[in-house]
Amino acid sequence: MKKPFVTLKQVQEITSEYPTPFHLYDEKGIRENARKLKEAFSWNPGFMEYFAVKATPNPTILQILKDEGFGVDCSSLTELMMAEAVGFQGDQIMFSSNVTPEEDFIAARKLDATINLDDFTHIEFLETVAGIPETISCRYNPGGAFAINNHIMDTPGEAKYGFTRDQLREGFLILKERGVKHFGLHAFLASNTVANEYYPALAKILFQTAVELQEETGVHIAFINLSGGIGIPYRPEQEASDIFAIGEGVRQAYEEIFVPAGMDDVAIFTELGRFMLGPYGCLVTRALHEKHIYKEYIGLDACAANLMRPAMYGAYHHITVMGKELDPCDHKYDITGGLCENNDKFAVDRMLPKIELGDFVVIHDTGAHGFAMGYNYNGKLRSAEVLLRLDGSTRCIRRAETPADYFATLNVPGLVNIETEKKETIHY
Ligand SMILES: *Cc1c(COP(=O)(O)O)cnc(C)c1O
Repeated sequence: MKKPFVTLKQVQEITSEYPTPFHLYDEKGIRENARKLKEAFSWNPGFMEYFAVKATPNPTILQILKDEGFGVDCSSLTELMMAEAVGFQGDQIMFSSNVTPEEDFIAARKLDATINLDDFTHIEFLETVAGIPETISCRYNPGGAFAINNHIMDTPGEAKYGFTRDQLREGFLILKERGVKHFGLHAFLASNTVANEYYPALAKILFQTAVELQEETGVHIAFINLSGGIGIPYRPEQEASDIFAIGEGVRQAYEEIFVPAGMDDVAIFTELGRFMLGPYGCLVTRALHEKHIYKEYIGLDACAANLMRPAMYGAYHHITVMGKELDPCDHKYDITGGLCENNDKFAVDRMLPKIELGDFVVIHDTGAHGFAMGYNYNGKLRSAEVLLRLDGSTRCIRRAETPADYFATLNVPGLVNIETEKKETIHY
C-alpha cells in the first residue's frame, strides 16, 4: 500500500494555515534519499549529483540539496539566475541546455558553469557569443533504438538531442584545438526507468565511447555524466529502483571498461530530478464538487494547471483520500480539475473509498515535474509550495499566485484592484 508522508492530523493542521491546493515537500525524505545516492556512488571519488532544477525549481529545495553537497543542472537563463542566487557557482553548476539562446551561454560562462553542448553547431556559436572554456562536455545521441535485454526502452534516433558519434570525434578535435583541456561525455537515453539496469547499460555505452574517443583524439576525459532518467514507482504495484544495485552496476562497468584502459580517474556525474524529489512531494487538495451523470465524478480544488502529467502523458499518480486509508475501495470515480479541457483528470475509473465533499485528497509523487510544469490556462493560478521540515513544522517556500500576479504582465489599469478575496468559510 502506498502511504502519503503525512497523516490526516498533519494535513488538518497544515491546511489550517495554508488553504488547499498546495504542493507539500518532505525535507526528511529528500535528505535521506540524497545521502543514499551519495553512498551508492561513494566508490567514485569525483562523484557529483547535479540536481535537474527544471524538476523542482524552488530555491529552498535547491538549498537543501546544496547542504547535502549537490550541484545543480540548469537549462535556461532563469534557472542559472536561481542557481546563482542560492550560491551555486563554477563547477557546482552544469548547464545542459538545447536550442540555446546567446544570453544563456553568456550567463553560463559568467558563472563559470560547466557547459554541456547539445549540438555540433553550438561549438562555433558558443565560441562567437561567449568563448570556449577549458572544461566542456558534449551530449551523445547514439541514434537507433536503446534496448536493455532486448527490451526497447526508447528511440534516441527519434530524439532531438545530442551529437552523432562522428560529430563527437570531430567536435572533440575542434574543441581541443580551441584550447579545451578537460572533456565530459553525457547522454540521456530513457526517462523514468525503474529498472536497475538502465544506468549500468548507459554507463557501458558512454565508458566505451569515451575510451574510443580518447584513443581517436588524444583528449583528457574528465567525467561521464549519466544525466537523469532513474524512475520512481508511481504505481503501487511497482517496485522502487535500488540505488545501491544501480551504483554497484555502474562500478562494475567502470572496472570492466575504464580500469583496463588506464582511465581510472574519471568522475561520474548524474543529473537526477525525478529520483531526487518525485516521491517527496504531494499535491494536497480537497473535494470541491461531486457529479453524477454517465459516470461518477469528484471535482477537486486543483487542476491540471497544478499537475500536468496525467493530462499530458496519461501518467498515473496514486491518490489517497485522507483518513480513509483502510476503507474499502468500492467506488469508481473520475477525479477531475476544473479546466475547460476534458483531459483535466487526475484519475479515470479509479477505485477509491467513498469521497465526501471536503475530504482531503492527496495526490502522490508530485515532487518533481509537478508544480514545475504548472501554467495559467483558464486563468487558473499556481498554488503555494510548502515544506514539511525535519522538526515537523512547516514553512511556505512559495506563496500561491494571486490575480495580481496573473495580471502583472498586462497594462490595464484597474484590473489588479478588483476585489478578489474569496469568502472565508465554506461549510462542508
Ligand atoms: C529533464 C532532464 C534531467 C532530469 O531528468 P529526470 O527524469 O527528472 O531524472 C536531467 N538532465 C537533463 C538534460 C534533462 O533534460
